[in-house]
Amino acid sequence: MNDRNQDQSATASPAIGRRALLAATTAIAAASILPRRSSAQSAASQASPSLPARGEFVVRGAHVLSMDDKVGDFPAGDVHVRDGVIVAVAASVAAAGAQVIDGKGMICMPGLIDTHWHHWTTFLRPALRADDPKKTYFPVSAAVGQHYTPQDSYHSVRLSLAEAIGAGVTTTHNWAHNVRSPAHADAEVKAMRESGLRGRFAYGPAQGMPNDQSMDIADWARMKKELAKDDMIGLGVCSRNVDAANASRGAINADMAKKEWGVARDLGLPITLHTNGSANIQLLAANNLLGKDVQLVHPLNLAPGDFELLAKHDVRYSISPTGEAGRTGETQLAELLQAGVKVSMSIDNVTADRCDCFACAKMLQILNRHRTAGKYSLTTRRLVQMMTIDGAIDLGLADKTGSLTPGKRADLILVKTGTPNMKQIGDPYDALVQQAQPSDIDTVVADGRILLRKREFTAFDFEKVAAESSAAFEALKARAKFS
Ligand SMILES: [Zn+2]
Repeated sequence: MNDRNQDQSATASPAIGRRALLAATTAIAAASILPRRSSAQSAASQASPSLPARGEFVVRGAHVLSMDDKVGDFPAGDVHVRDGVIVAVAASVAAAGAQVIDGKGMICMPGLIDTHWHHWTTFLRPALRADDPKKTYFPVSAAVGQHYTPQDSYHSVRLSLAEAIGAGVTTTHNWAHNVRSPAHADAEVKAMRESGLRGRFAYGPAQGMPNDQSMDIADWARMKKELAKDDMIGLGVCSRNVDAANASRGAINADMAKKEWGVARDLGLPITLHTNGSANIQLLAANNLLGKDVQLVHPLNLAPGDFELLAKHDVRYSISPTGEAGRTGETQLAELLQAGVKVSMSIDNVTADRCDCFACAKMLQILNRHRTAGKYSLTTRRLVQMMTIDGAIDLGLADKTGSLTPGKRADLILVKTGTPNMKQIGDPYDALVQQAQPSDIDTVVADGRILLRKREFTAFDFEKVAAESSAAFEALKARAKFS
């Protein structure tokens, strides 16, 4: 978090003048609030030219949850955004000339942050059958994934990111573990840029590649150069599981990990990998691989002592509550938090699951109660923190996003409270964890661009995205001879 909110008092207006200002601005708001298509992007930005322009607007009268203790919350507050930057957050902000978004009946909060999501698998949904072991997520993605073209990667990621926007996610960690060529990597990044969302592209292996073969480590430097001037998308590496016996799915041994991770570290790229129990942690530690540039995924089956080891090395852990609830073992959130490990929340996939950060938080709340019999307190505010600022910290983006802090980039959402499930709510954090649904997301802003307004996508024609995705999947299915 940064400290740049001292200008709040300077920009906050006294009550006088606000009514007049509202009258003046509301008239033009309805026509002008829907973003204009941008014809001129800044040279530094690689964003798609079809994205709406960043303008100047102020959300008025919302229940503001800043997720920044220095800023605080406001039962009826304003958030002023200009050129992609949060200018002010206060009970009342003047914002002369800014377009007005009526925040009454809304919670205004930071955009939700996912820290591990396999977007490339999304368009495989029609191939999956929940009740047929041969057609669940892993066997299908492993088999069909080997037939992906770059266009398949593009269409799947694009569909996936549409769901992300619709569910209030403004930052995502694209865990791309089917990069079959540099063109596949480019295709995924293209889809990310066109979405308008913030994120990290984690450059991974290809499905089915031999575990004694290195990833395309030579292409990481090219991609780093490609993304060097991209304000919205960073680069990382997703490693295959590291396992002494190469026993777990697609695992590599420690020697291969040291080789690949060494290249990643020379390039300054953060590393992420799935884990499967204490042996993984101990193997990484024994080979001096743990560090603050490492994000692990799925904290299941860890042993006493592992948590302190992870905290000592400042390792981050991403939790995918829904998927983990169906696996062997339990999400060990209380142990991680007690040891001081940085944790965040992730969607994992929307092929066999859905993007519902609220449900993920609720799942963690239930699991914690069940596991600790209420002995470990996990407040609803802490859970909202996990889906916002904690995700930003995990991804190294806390100086840009994760809270409504003046000076940060404007990644925010408006959550309706007038829906049947959100009517008559009490504490807003309780409501977000216990009642909210993705369909309550009214407005989504990423880097000052309004990407969803009154649940309408502004940057693309969703039906077109979906139709193209469907056609690509059918062609893939035929090519892979999948039935
Ligand atoms: Zn995963």
